Amino acid sequence: MPELPEVETIKRSLEPLILGQRIVASELLLAKALKLAGPDQLSAATSQAVISELLRRGKHLIIRLDTGYDLIFHLRMTGKLLFEPQEAELPKHTTAVFYFASQTKLVFADTRKFGTLHLVTSGDWERVSSLKGIGPEPLGADFTFDYFYAGLQRRTKIKPLLLDQTFIAGLGNIYADESLFRAGIHPERPAASLSKAEAERLYRAVRETIADGVEHRGTTVSDYLDGLGKKGTFQNLLAVYRRTGEVCPRCGRTIERIVVGGRSSHLCPGCQVKSDCD
Ligand SMILES: [Zn+2]
Repeated sequence: MPELPEVETIKRSLEPLILGQRIVASELLLAKALKLAGPDQLSAATSQAVISELLRRGKHLIIRLDTGYDLIFHLRMTGKLLFEPQEAELPKHTTAVFYFASQTKLVFADTRKFGTLHLVTSGDWERVSSLKGIGPEPLGADFTFDYFYAGLQRRTKIKPLLLDQTFIAGLGNIYADESLFRAGIHPERPAASLSKAEAERLYRAVRETIADGVEHRGTTVSDYLDGLGKKGTFQNLLAVYRRTGEVCPRCGRTIERIVVGGRSSHLCPGCQVKSDCD
């Protein structure tokens, strides 16, 4: 599932290719993926529209049009946004296509079909439930240590809290597991049980892991590709995520997988001890 670094990489890969492009036609092949508008509204909003800006918020990619609308993509499990020549054959599971005047197109493809496209007037992101009340960006100025530490003072395990988009925007299973490993914190620790020193380690680990993920153009463990169909490289640097049974790069113990809050969690039992859990 694309998380912040993957969506940021898609944005950066598409920016030089689609900024300034004029959409001449759009095609919606999976009607249920379009939210807050009907197919006719999508056609009207995109017809002859020029792409003026690309934005990202959490795991959402936003394409801003000069017609006063934003196209908000949430790729969920397997959604992809691919820039292709006009004549390229459409992928089998294509949700929507935007054709440009330059004989190219942007394809929204999605094998699992959970990805969504919201059409809203520019900046009206609060209408999208997954953006309403979204927390700060982990690399943004408003994600301070004070904010983070105050947010830990609640009765929840630390791993589900890191995944809570209203607490921090953009983290999913990959970067939460890697951040907890880097900080040496067990995913089942109650958030409020972290000492200030542990909270500081985790705060730094979250920011560094996300920054490293962006620098390495995301993680391709199954489907993720950037806007040009290229894989990321952060999968080569993962310490614990989907490394069950392998050797911890730090202490040599065997990486384990447990389930926390209904989600797989990968951890090193040597580096992430559970002794402080209640
Ligand atoms: Zn270890």
